[in-house]
Amino acid sequence: MMTKSVNNSTEIARHNLLGMTQSRLTDFLLSIGEKSFRAKQIMKWIHHCGVDDFALMTDLSKALREKLMAMAEIRPPEIVSQQDSNDGTRKWVLRVTSGSCVEAVYIPEKGRGTLCVSSQVGCSLDCSFCSTGKQGFQRDLTASEIIGQVWLAVKSFDGFKAHQKVDKKNGQIINADKPKVTNVVMMGMGEPLLNFDNVVDGMNLMMDDLAYGLSKRRVTLSTSGVVPMLDKLGAVSDCSLAISLHAPNDELRSQLVPINKKYPIAMLLESSLRYINGLSDNKRVITIEYTLIDKVNDTLPLAHELVALLRDVPCKINLIPFNPFPLSDYQRPSNNRVKAFQRVLNEAGFIAPVRTTRGDDIDAACGQLVGQVADRTKRKQRYLSNQNSNEEQSVRIVNGLQ
Ligand code: SF4
Repeated sequence: MMTKSVNNSTEIARHNLLGMTQSRLTDFLLSIGEKSFRAKQIMKWIHHCGVDDFALMTDLSKALREKLMAMAEIRPPEIVSQQDSNDGTRKWVLRVTSGSCVEAVYIPEKGRGTLCVSSQVGCSLDCSFCSTGKQGFQRDLTASEIIGQVWLAVKSFDGFKAHQKVDKKNGQIINADKPKVTNVVMMGMGEPLLNFDNVVDGMNLMMDDLAYGLSKRRVTLSTSGVVPMLDKLGAVSDCSLAISLHAPNDELRSQLVPINKKYPIAMLLESSLRYINGLSDNKRVITIEYTLIDKVNDTLPLAHELVALLRDVPCKINLIPFNPFPLSDYQRPSNNRVKAFQRVLNEAGFIAPVRTTRGDDIDAACGQLVGQVADRTKRKQRYLSNQNSNEEQSVRIVNGLQ
């Protein structure tokens, strides 16, 4: 496999083993004349020990190590910056091989630490309340770039399984209170179901005991509603499911989440129920994400409409007050409006926590991730020129020129 590097010299593209599931790694090893059991050894080195150098894999033969060094690599995205918020939230800007950047965010909470992982460089959908959508779209992330976000976060907390120190007397983990990735949500930049195979591989690694061993309840895929792919998901994954709903009727949802015009709410809920009912664990519920936007979707009649819509859906509803960003005209509702909306849901028997905004001092809050997207769609350019012409028009009006 040959490729051109940025300075135009030709170099060998190596197989990145970081994102290979056990079966893909086994196939790769067999294809180079090696035994299949080597896959387990290599996975433990990568995901339990955090090793990215084949020379350190001391239980592999010297010949195999040299072979891997010549043709393979373990390469996570490159960290461009790491920022820590006052509330403990940590955000990474990560450069991927195309030169663009994506973002990943770690949110510590009592008893758990959630990593929000990106699936695409930008997003081809254009939800009106989402900063990522305004950046346009470049490409899907590879499985290595997806699981690489987990690998880097675990590394930053020195949290690899092999590094955990256990107290010999009582079997407890020493330093168990240091930050730890206990949950992953596919809720960063991009629509995960539009990068189906790589996201499924990434999530399978998150849940594989040879990698991060997270329970299926702790790995969540969040979708805006790509119904055909959601119908396929049940055949290959049993992760938890979150739906970006944001409105209780099609007219409003189509304005906020344009993919709703293709796959309206009824189709999306039917598909979500098929998915959740197909899981072996019948106690799981769908998480409904509802971003509350001032005077757009936060009125009491809409809260009652939401109650009626979700009456027979096993779910919990996360209420997320809108987080403003530069290219958006929306506002965050007052606390009183948020509480009033929540009260209607609670009185109807729904669990509906208000998600406290985390990491907004480092632009890491929900809906604020932007990365650095070499946009193929020219969407950002269009937004900026619209904004400029609106501003020019306002200046003309203020100056009495129109
Ligand atoms: S909310 Fe999700 S699907 Fe919608 S534009 Fe943002 S990243 Fe894409």
